[in-house]
Amino acid sequence: MTRLAASTSLWFLCSAPALAGTVAVQVEVHQDEVPSPAVEAMVWHALFDRHGHDAVILDADDPIRRMRAEDLTTLYRFEVSWSPLTARLDGRGIIGSLAPTVQVEEYQLDGAALRPFAHWTIQGALALYDEIPSQGEPAIVSLPQIALQEAIGVAVNPVMAPIWYREDPFLDVPVELVADEEYRSFYGSRWKEVADLRLRRASVMLRQAGIQLEVVGHHSWTSPDDLHGLSDLLDALAATPRERPDSIRIAFTQQTDLATVPDREVEDVGRAYRPGSDVLVADQAMVPDHAPAWDEAEEASAITHEVLHALGVTHLEAEYFVMSPTKASTVHRLAPSTRALAQTAAHARYATSDPVHAVAALGAAAEAWLAEPESQIDYIMGNLAAGPGVPPPGWVAPGSLSALTNAAIARYYLQLAERDPDNTALWQSALAHSRAASTTSEP
Ligand SMILES: [Zn+2]
Repeated sequence: MTRLAASTSLWFLCSAPALAGTVAVQVEVHQDEVPSPAVEAMVWHALFDRHGHDAVILDADDPIRRMRAEDLTTLYRFEVSWSPLTARLDGRGIIGSLAPTVQVEEYQLDGAALRPFAHWTIQGALALYDEIPSQGEPAIVSLPQIALQEAIGVAVNPVMAPIWYREDPFLDVPVELVADEEYRSFYGSRWKEVADLRLRRASVMLRQAGIQLEVVGHHSWTSPDDLHGLSDLLDALAATPRERPDSIRIAFTQQTDLATVPDREVEDVGRAYRPGSDVLVADQAMVPDHAPAWDEAEEASAITHEVLHALGVTHLEAEYFVMSPTKASTVHRLAPSTRALAQTAAHARYATSDPVHAVAALGAAAEAWLAEPESQIDYIMGNLAAGPGVPPPGWVAPGSLSALTNAAIARYYLQLAERDPDNTALWQSALAHSRAASTTSEP
């Protein structure tokens, strides 16, 4: 009887859906000082700070249909405009620039209509910083993006998220967090907490792809100090033994000098093998007095970007996405191609034990979403190798696979055969799959 009672209450606990508060958001931008996708991302991150949950960003067209479909009852419309503002600085005279104004309107969904409920306006300040020039006199620069981040951080304060029930099936991707000695000494005893906060934000960003990150361990690492860039540091990380073969290992470094690229006005924020199981993220230097929550947002975006590479996702030639090659502003959006590739890869690695099933799914996603044959083959092979493994020689009939997956498997067997030249089964299978690849491919 006791056991029955215990299992009944356990069932009850497990069946209670996770509580999550969220809101629908629309963004309108009146001047392109900071473009609309960047503003959307700022609102998304600011609301995450306030509610610990992802908001739903709606497009400009009729929001009511989607709100009804997803049981969203509250809509916040953020309007951003810019106006001239001057500031007097001690001993430096008067400086003028554009300052943001953020207007927020709250609507409640009432049947098929949106009813205005409340509105407020935040007048932002200027964000002024001393420039550190490589030559000449230092000047004062105005950073509109920082000014807008600060204003949006205030503008989300009155937002009340309604509580609604949500039970989305997210697939867990196991990750191990690693910090080098510079990172650990910079953050002291708080380093795990700091790393977890960034990881949690990245995990919620990845939910757009139906996956989330599950931390399975924290480890210390001593990073070599005589290297010349983040790529070398990533190789050094990959050469250290790993605790769990199935996890993605995310290492944080404070060797930030490795992140500056000579002769380029950019900063490297991370590195990952594509695809692979090791990721490196360089802690980013933010401007002084910048609210720490925005460090989390920027670094979580870097983690998300590199984890997606580790799952085999390539860059997207468009701005203001997480997978854009360079990050010009705050981001949060994953493109449909990114979502499909990440979800298929995670599924092949963590939810499928059948290599034949996995190879077919990876092949179909590679063909649908990747343009370069090299990226397609890397995507298939890397994710199979990190997941259920490549089918053993002779396991899968070449005729049952597409030309692309045959080419990928042939390549993999050839790599193994070079290291194990007496293994005739490997050579034979490589040959069979490469024949199938050439006979079934398009002319
Ligand atoms: Zn990249």
